[in-house]
Amino acid sequence: MNFTTQMDAARKGIITREMAVVARKECVEAASLRGLVAEGKVVIPANKNHTSLDPCGIGQGLKTKINVNLGVSKDCYNIEAELEKVRCAVELQADAIMDLSCYGKTAEFRRKLLEVSPAAIGTVPVYDAIGLYDKELEAITAEEFLEVVEQHAKDGVDFMTIHAGINRETVARFEKNKRLINIVSRGGSLLYAWMKLNDRENPFYMYYDVLLDIFRKYDVTISLGDACRPGSLKDATDASQVQELIVLGELTRAAWEKDVQVMIEGPGHMSLNEIIPNMLLEKKLCHGAPFYVLGPLVTDIAPGYDHITGAIGGAIAAANGADFLCYVTPAEHLRLPTLEDMKEGIIASRIAAHAADVAKGILGARRWDDAMSEARRDLDWERMFELALDPEKARRYRAESQPENEDTCTMCGKLCAVRNMNKVISNVII
Ligand code: SF4
Repeated sequence: MNFTTQMDAARKGIITREMAVVARKECVEAASLRGLVAEGKVVIPANKNHTSLDPCGIGQGLKTKINVNLGVSKDCYNIEAELEKVRCAVELQADAIMDLSCYGKTAEFRRKLLEVSPAAIGTVPVYDAIGLYDKELEAITAEEFLEVVEQHAKDGVDFMTIHAGINRETVARFEKNKRLINIVSRGGSLLYAWMKLNDRENPFYMYYDVLLDIFRKYDVTISLGDACRPGSLKDATDASQVQELIVLGELTRAAWEKDVQVMIEGPGHMSLNEIIPNMLLEKKLCHGAPFYVLGPLVTDIAPGYDHITGAIGGAIAAANGADFLCYVTPAEHLRLPTLEDMKEGIIASRIAAHAADVAKGILGARRWDDAMSEARRDLDWERMFELALDPEKARRYRAESQPENEDTCTMCGKLCAVRNMNKVISNVII
């Protein structure tokens, strides 16, 4: 039987190769996964032209996934350095990579990325339009924005961020309800400027149907961008953010009518106590579509440590409904991340995702923790290194501080509670 998208196949009762792969990796039944794809509660971003893809599923009942942002900018234009980051991200088990290149002709990097990456690839075409057409923002036509989308789809991009929710209604709400830090989404700010300069509706909202036809043709998952995501704790859960989320819910239904898979993007900066209500709001207003969050960063005061502020928020978000975490690096708000920044960001996000999976009861998640605890009880350092999320760091730390007694560490030495309890217990039992 023929099908266009994963969602179309699922609705026709077909279990695609991608669904079978995802079901096997997640240890879930392919038939129930198919049902969730049909309902829009799980997406499998898998562009027909991305031949090196190892598909992954994002959404209800599946492991929390993480995304890594990469890409060149005007100040740091080094394609080789970014490709090195791609290799490292894949090695560190990133589930998806977004190419956020925002300078020059980005096609070369994007195509290389698609050639080598088994991880799903995402882009934000509105950034590319600026460099590609080499003209002022206001002079770019709606048709040109759509041409860029089609080019990315043809190249094999699996999901694209489209800020279609910042329409005239959202803009009016934003202007009426002043914010501390305005719009901090790069794509959102560009579209706001374009709308103002041209006094026109958002081109992606205006031509949403045409856009969906492109997404359907190549099976690109639409990641509905949150132009009004809060950039400070003060702006969280405000009128602009909620207004946009309502529009995104309507756009989700329209996409599903054309069998286009949808994810919803979310905050941003947000205090801890607002995270759970925000997860509920998204699931309600967007009809259970997978939620992809950037952070959330739970405080604004820690530049240099935002991989930590993001991981705290990410763990709470994912334990309460978020399905996909966009990593945050220590370089957030400061510079383009280096390879080391990227590594720290990935590890922090993976910790957040795993902690949430344990809390959600995702099959097999706890087994990993239990295995580590057994190795700790047995003071089996080799096994601990094998199981560690970052084996290299764990090994290095131990090597850098050698204890007098091999079966302890330099923290407590002879007072090692684990070793002493093992001895006492075994003697008592004997
Ligand atoms: S020495 Fe202390 S910190 Fe080190 S393994 Fe034993 S109990 Fe744990």
